[in-house]
Amino acid sequence: MKDHTYVSRPVDKDGYVQWSDEENKTWSILVDRQSQLIKGKACEAFFDGLEKLDFPVDRIPQIPDINRILNAATGWGVEPVPAIIQPKAFFTLLANKRFPAATFIRRPEDIDYIEEPDIFHEIYGHTPLLTNQNYADFMEKFGKLALQADPKDRSRLFRLFWFTIEFGLLDTDAGLRAYGGGILSSIGETQFCLSGKPMIQPMDALTVLRTPYRIDIIQPLYFVISDFSDLFSILEQDILALLIRSKTLGDNPALYPQKIAPEKQAS
Ligand code: FE
Repeated sequence: MKDHTYVSRPVDKDGYVQWSDEENKTWSILVDRQSQLIKGKACEAFFDGLEKLDFPVDRIPQIPDINRILNAATGWGVEPVPAIIQPKAFFTLLANKRFPAATFIRRPEDIDYIEEPDIFHEIYGHTPLLTNQNYADFMEKFGKLALQADPKDRSRLFRLFWFTIEFGLLDTDAGLRAYGGGILSSIGETQFCLSGKPMIQPMDALTVLRTPYRIDIIQPLYFVISDFSDLFSILEQDILALLIRSKTLGDNPALYPQKIAPEKQAS
């Protein structure tokens, strides 16, 4: 089992976390850097959300402050959680318009990349668009759908979340823009996603459900929506039926090298 070395900070009864100076400094560096990088790369709705949330740059924002704004915009809120939560707890929070955010931030040595989603990823990457009703509704509906799905199929269903909420691109009059939080909170992915190098396909739920991904690499493939209302339309389909169909049809070939199981590496 993977050794998770990050642990969430305690949250007091009012929802506040006592962050250290070093942790606040990490936030400051990351926000400063991403704010420059996402110019011309993030979609307008993301910038609108950033403006509404008006994050402090010198310290990690406190969840109750974010929640006042999210709640007024879409009825959503952030819920502080431990570094690891079970899928059922995760989807239950989404179904109740609570966005889980683990209260830890990457260490300075991990500043450019961290596999675990930290508070920078969750807050900076996702909460701006939780002020957008279509994005927020997708998240809520997705949570409900995942709770209805067979737990064995949830990781396949999660591909739909991965290729939208985490790594989605939006087609705009100005060209392709990113809305996925996994892109917009990552220095490498923000630079790569519109470089012309990755493969880009129109969003199609069945294709996405058949598309494997790896969490630990820059994505070789992104799916594009043409409007945030597309997120609404995706879940208007009978996703659980498409999920079964995707299993029958099988996965599309992976566009990345497969991890070699350790026992097969010898020889
Ligand atoms: Fe995320």
